[in-house]
Amino acid sequence: MNKLTFFYSIVLILILFSCNTATKQPEIIAPPEQNTTTTISKNNSEEKPDLFYHYSIWWAFVNKIFEGDIDAKELKSKGDLALGSYNFLDGELIMLDGVLYQATEDGKVHKPDNAAKIAYANATFFDAEQSFKIDKVNGYDSLRSIINEHLTSKNYFYAFKIHGDFKKMKCGGLHKQDKPFVKGLDVLIPNRPVFERENFSGTMIGFFCPEFIGNINVAGYHLHFVSDDEQFAGHVMEFEAENLTVEIDMMNEYQFVLPKTDDYKNAGFEKEFQYKKK
Ligand SMILES: [Zn+2]
Repeated sequence: MNKLTFFYSIVLILILFSCNTATKQPEIIAPPEQNTTTTISKNNSEEKPDLFYHYSIWWAFVNKIFEGDIDAKELKSKGDLALGSYNFLDGELIMLDGVLYQATEDGKVHKPDNAAKIAYANATFFDAEQSFKIDKVNGYDSLRSIINEHLTSKNYFYAFKIHGDFKKMKCGGLHKQDKPFVKGLDVLIPNRPVFERENFSGTMIGFFCPEFIGNINVAGYHLHFVSDDEQFAGHVMEFEAENLTVEIDMMNEYQFVLPKTDDYKNAGFEKEFQYKKK
């Protein structure tokens, strides 16, 4: 073997060796990075409509329209994820995976039957388009700013399902009202019952509405909560959480349905109230 042949043989061996190791090298799976978005591909035949169903106007609800004319059965035909309130403000409404909950002012969580009447609701058939994980958030503000980075545009509506471990959770409820209704939500919400719990797991569900929605609905984020053990629920006020999985469903269709009640017909729109969570 002359020197040249020897040289070429070595080069050939090296090339073969590198090809071999390249093909046989085990695939390196990167650890899941915080905030890495997974786009969920959908089978078109199974895709649910991206429709935001909205019963009653937030502005009417703020102005003492605490009685609606739809029931739980009808709401379940409009979505499998929902938030809202029951007639006479008899508790916060939460629907997760088609299961409806009622968090009453005594801090208890019930599963109302199909006849339960609803004063105000937002609902959709949840069909996540993207999901990502967050290791830790120290509050509502940080969660909102992280989610904001993942929204395609703030000119659409979004639904959320956010499961995680909660170091602390503070939820609001509603004091049941009797007729004639005297106080509007502008007074009742700042004086709402507050429930707190530590070190447990659960799911926040809710919606984002663009700023242009004005007083028709809650502008920005509106989240409700139910614990995995179904013992704790309400309107999300503040929290600290870990190991969150955020699922997002964008919606570009909006349907609102108005109550056909005498109170609604005669409603005034004097008071305003917004949570201002953007
Ligand atoms: Zn709420």
